[in-house]
Amino acid sequence: MTTTRDVTIVGGGIIGLATAYALSVTKAGGPGNTRITLLEKESRWGRHQSGRNSGVIHSGLYYAPGSSKARFARAGAEEMYEFCRNHGVPARRTGKVVVATEERELPALDELARRGWANGVRVEELDATGLREHEPAVRGIRALHVPDAGITDYGAVCAKLAELSQAAGVELRTGTELVGSRVSGGELVLSTTSGRIRTRRAINCAGLHSDRVARLAGGNPPVRILPFRGEYYENLAPNAPEVRTLVYPVPDPAFPFLGVHLTRMLDGSLHIGPNAVPALAREGYRHRDCSLAQLREFAGYSGARALARRYWRVGAAELTRSLSTSLFARAARKLVPGTRAADLRPAPAGVRAQALGPDGTLVDDFLVTSDAHWIHVLNAPSPAATASLVIGREIAARLAHHTEAG
Ligand SMILES: Cc1cc2nc3c(=O)[nH]c(=O)nc-3n(C[C@H](O)[C@H](O)[C@H](O)COP(=O)(O)OP(=O)(O)OC[C@H]3O[C@@H](n4cnc5c(N)ncnc54)[C@H](O)[C@@H]3O)c2cc1C
Repeated sequence: MTTTRDVTIVGGGIIGLATAYALSVTKAGGPGNTRITLLEKESRWGRHQSGRNSGVIHSGLYYAPGSSKARFARAGAEEMYEFCRNHGVPARRTGKVVVATEERELPALDELARRGWANGVRVEELDATGLREHEPAVRGIRALHVPDAGITDYGAVCAKLAELSQAAGVELRTGTELVGSRVSGGELVLSTTSGRIRTRRAINCAGLHSDRVARLAGGNPPVRILPFRGEYYENLAPNAPEVRTLVYPVPDPAFPFLGVHLTRMLDGSLHIGPNAVPALAREGYRHRDCSLAQLREFAGYSGARALARRYWRVGAAELTRSLSTSLFARAARKLVPGTRAADLRPAPAGVRAQALGPDGTLVDDFLVTSDAHWIHVLNAPSPAATASLVIGREIAARLAHHTEAG
C-alpha cells in the first residue's frame, strides 16, 4: 500500500517530534494543511538518546559564542521550562555548580565564565566557602554557579510532543523503519517496513543512524556517526553525600563531553555519570554489544582511524574506568569526597550520536544539511534535548524556505 504525504519525518526522538510539533502545532513552517507523517522504528517514542540521558536543561554556559549550540541552548532552555509548565511535564530550575578542584583547572573555569557571560547566561563566581553554601558535600577551590540550569524528563517531553502533534493531525507510525528512498516523478518514494510512502519532502532525524539514512537517501554525508556510550551509576547509600542539585567538573576543552557529573534526578535519586566510551555498536548499551558491520565500517573510515591515532590513550583510560566501579567512584570523589564505590550500582546507559569528520575531528556544533528533497540532521548532541523546541522550529523554517524556493 502506498500513502501520499507532503512531509515525512524519520526518527521519533526529541528532534523528530519537536519538528513535527513545530510544523503542526505552532505552524512554524507557515499555515496550511501540510500532511505530515513521522516514522519511528521502535515501538515507542524516545527509546534511544532522548530517553536515555541526564535530563539536564542546559543554560548555554559551555558553548562557543555565536555557535548554534550557544544560541539555541539559551532560548531553548526557557522554552523547555515553559513547555513543561504548560503541559504538566515535571521540570525544576535547580541551578548547578561547575567546580574546579585543582589550580590547573582555573584558566578553563575562567574561560567558561567568559563564554557564559558572552552567551547571556547568568553566572556567579564562587570561592570555596561560597561553593559550600550551595553544595555542602562538594569540595573545590573555586566554582561557577548557574542558577538557570535545571532538570526534566525528556522521555516525558517526547510523549507529550507526540500527543500534541497527533492531536494536530500528524500521522504517527511506530514500529516503522525507513529502509529505502528513491526519487520518482519529482517526489520521493520511501520504502518502510510497513509499506511505501510518496512524499514531497523528508527530514532525517535518525540520531545514531542519521549518516546511514543520509546515505540511504542517496546523499554523501560529510560526517559519520561515532557512538559514544555514557554509563551511569546510582548512589544507593541511605546516607549518601547530600548533593542538592547538579555538580559538574570543569570539562576538557578538547572534547565535546562535559565529564562525569552528579545529578539529583526529579525522583530524588542521585546519578553519577556519564563517561564517554567508544561503543562497538550504534545502540551498544552494554559492553558486550558489538556489531562487526560497524567495526568494519569504521576501520574503513579515515576519520575513525585518525581519531584512534590521536586519542587512543584517552580512549583506553575511559575504557578502563568503564570496567571499574572503584575508578568511577574515584572520579566522583574528586568532587564529592564522601562517595563510596560500595554504594554505587550501575544505572541504564545511553549512547551519544557524535558526528566525526573525515580528518578525525569531533564536530562540535549542530550540523544540518539539505538538498532538493531531504533535510538531514547530522549532529544533534547535547544540548539538543534542551534546545529541541528551537531546533524543531529552525528545521520547519528551513523546510518552508526550500518549499518556497522550489
Ligand atoms: C548519555 C547522554 C546524556 C545526555 N544528557 C543530556 C542532557 O542532560 N541535556 C541535553 O540537552 N541533552 C543531553 N543529551 C543529548 C540528547 O539526549 C540528544 O541530543 C537528543 O536526545 C538527540 O535527539 P534525536 O532525536 O536527534 O536522537 P534520538 O533520540 O536518538 O532519536 C532518533 C530516533 O530515530 C530512530 N530511527 C533511527 N533510524 C531510523 C529509521 N531508519 N527509521 C525509523 N526510525 C529510525 C531511532 O529509533 C530513534 O528513536 C545526552 C545524550 C546522552 C546519550
